[in-house]
Amino acid sequence: MTTPVYQNFINGHFVANQSGETFAVKNPATDAVIYHVEVADEFIQQQAIASAKQGFAIWSAMTAVERSRILLKAVTLLRERNDELAKIEVLDTGKPWQEAECVDVQTGADVIEYFAGLAPAQVGQQQMVGDDFYYTRKEPLGICAGIGAWNYPLQIACWKSGPALAAGNAFIFKPSEETPLGAIKLAEIYIEAGVPAGVFNVVQGAAEVGQWLTQSSAIDKVSFTGEVGTGKKVVASAAGSLKDVTMELGGKSPLLVFDDADISQAVSAAMLGNFYTQGEICTNCTRIYVHKNVYQQFIDELKTRTEKNIIAGDPLDAKVNFGALISKKHQQLVMSYIEKGLSEGATLLTGGKELSPDSAPHGYFVAPTVFTDCTDEMTIVKEEIFGPVMSVLVFDDEDDVIHRANDTHLGLAAGVFSKDIKRAHRVIHQLQAGICWINSYGNSPAEMPVGGYKQSGIGRENGIETLDHYTQTKSIYVGMSNIESPF
Ligand code: NAD
Repeated sequence: MTTPVYQNFINGHFVANQSGETFAVKNPATDAVIYHVEVADEFIQQQAIASAKQGFAIWSAMTAVERSRILLKAVTLLRERNDELAKIEVLDTGKPWQEAECVDVQTGADVIEYFAGLAPAQVGQQQMVGDDFYYTRKEPLGICAGIGAWNYPLQIACWKSGPALAAGNAFIFKPSEETPLGAIKLAEIYIEAGVPAGVFNVVQGAAEVGQWLTQSSAIDKVSFTGEVGTGKKVVASAAGSLKDVTMELGGKSPLLVFDDADISQAVSAAMLGNFYTQGEICTNCTRIYVHKNVYQQFIDELKTRTEKNIIAGDPLDAKVNFGALISKKHQQLVMSYIEKGLSEGATLLTGGKELSPDSAPHGYFVAPTVFTDCTDEMTIVKEEIFGPVMSVLVFDDEDDVIHRANDTHLGLAAGVFSKDIKRAHRVIHQLQAGICWINSYGNSPAEMPVGGYKQSGIGRENGIETLDHYTQTKSIYVGMSNIESPF
């Protein structure tokens, strides 16, 4: 059976590359190749820049209200096509349909809607200075690039392009080579909604295509989502042309469960923050610090619910709530961390093995895994695993646990469970992380800025401030009086 071949999406339509080079995309739940994609060669790269320049000239000249109206049409189309798009995400990522159906497309659409609403409200300043005055204009940057990870492919494309387009920029997006289709569908939707050709282009490929985007002096900004190590390469490469960067990177986030917490709620948060999207979420609370007085109660409930309530299997089955990891390679990497956990002395509470569910026997599954008796020095406690592996640690002193939670070069997210509101706020204010939750975990509405402290990121996505990251301020001084000159 022949599989479809997708081309790069440039200037409003699909364009064939000249090299003929393609790559295959597999369904992680079946190990079957589901389609091929053409790599963006030099010809495509030149076309992408040329079309983005043309698109930018048209788009940036429109009023913010005109742009907003078009983007809101795209939001409507995204929501109308929710099921078609959600299915693409399930087949590309291996995540459960029951998640994609209500999260991936909708949270992407929410962000475009939010920025479409905000864009017309963005205003400059004006101030008198004596008889003269100055005013400022918020101008778009020009051509922005986005480079995406594979865990939320369509959502990432929406979260990056939404504010960029709302502010009047053109955009070139490179999805992960593991999950390239969602971004193409978004490109088609933008065109159908009335976004001018060239304003949103999709180029396909792996690291080399990403490197071209970060190096190109025709590109004014790069917004990247991926690993810390790759992020460092992107920043170094972007420095060559001093382009603006937004970096959404990895984490090893702590969740602190105090002895006055609602333990069932804390277990829910820990499970969501480790097993949702089979553990492939950047903000996951993979270090769970539990107060010694409630430690046994916490792990008893955690074990029972993990073994009873998680259903792995064909991700398209609406009953399944736990999917396949993105690739065989990633499955093996996650298993190697589990082996390190065992060899370094952690106790395996549950899981710790590959799964081969009857409905998806060839999928890249790893069982939801919990280690207890963990210590701060263990590899599984220090390094991001990006899979369903939770480490539980015990504490008995507030200051000490804050110190331990902060003892990492990462700082993406953190959480606190406590019924004592003074303690909850006091502790969360001391945690070095950009995205924090109290008595909750993982929610990320369009209105809330998200991004990392320390090596987990630079800049923010979502929230009002993100619009500033896609604009530059032009100050204009207006002389109303005669110039005083010594010459
Ligand atoms: P990755 O770093 O391997 O790849 C990310 C993207 O970068 C891909 O599109 C890849 O093709 C591209 N790329 C690779 N090398 C490049 C280079 N030298 N120059 C430019 N681009 C290059 O990450 P991944 O495995 O796709 O995603 C998982 C990681 O992403 C995890 O670390 C996770 O925490 C992180 N993540 C962070 C967030 C966030 O918002 N903070 C969200 C999702 C995922």
